[in-house]
Amino acid sequence: MLQIESLKVFHGLIEAVHGIDIKISKGQCVCLLGPNGAGKTSTLSSITGTARATGSVRLDGNDIMALSIEERCKRGIAISPEGRRIFSNLSIQDNMIMGGAIRRDKTRLAQEIEEWISHFPVLGERRNQPAGTLSGGEQQMLAIVRALLSKPRILLLDEPSLGLAPQITARVFEIIRDLKKQEMTILLVEQNVAAAMEVSDYVYVLNNGAISSHGDVGKFGDGSDLMDELMGVHR
Ligand code: ATP
Repeated sequence: MLQIESLKVFHGLIEAVHGIDIKISKGQCVCLLGPNGAGKTSTLSSITGTARATGSVRLDGNDIMALSIEERCKRGIAISPEGRRIFSNLSIQDNMIMGGAIRRDKTRLAQEIEEWISHFPVLGERRNQPAGTLSGGEQQMLAIVRALLSKPRILLLDEPSLGLAPQITARVFEIIRDLKKQEMTILLVEQNVAAAMEVSDYVYVLNNGAISSHGDVGKFGDGSDLMDELMGVHR
């Protein structure tokens, strides 16, 4: 579904990602692991169109590199960004409506908002309150729901467990497992290696802007070597 080839990502004069290849098939959950500053967010930004990049990113065989952010969203790319980035001053309801802003089927959108509220009642109970009043975990749920309300074909999740308590993290990964059951295609960026490996089919490890290893999740066993690699431990 998504094919990335020779991707380089730039922030001004800095080349943050140095020509990587990533492939994601329909219904797969692919995980991108790596230490701080490895280039994970930069990679996601090049897919959504918010960072300057060269190389190719193809969605269903069509190169999307020349498309605007909005056009990529219309083609089915959605992101729950690092740090949630919900609209804190807007109500919870308006955040959800914003998620579906590109859609024309507003009646269906309204129904889907109610369906999501039945999954996460807090979003309904407090729908008219500013989204910034939600807890970190609730904001993460809202960020994922907002992304899903655009009806994506592929969902990019940037560190959804960052800063969350273990119980809330478990809930976030439960949601990812549910989405997988519904055959959502997911590219997951995580630092929580164990939890990420549990939900992923395929793993890429990014180090200093380059892929240092990749393979089916089974290739990495219990993930302990992977964790050592990410923490720079040499045995
Ligand atoms: P983290 O887990 O800390 O978010 P990451 O793997 O997502 O890290 P990126 O955020 O993609 O890494 O950063 C990759 C490199 O690009 C880093 O050296 C970072 O300092 C640099 N970088 C990222 N964004 C910018 C920017 N807007 N301007 C300049 N340099 C940037």
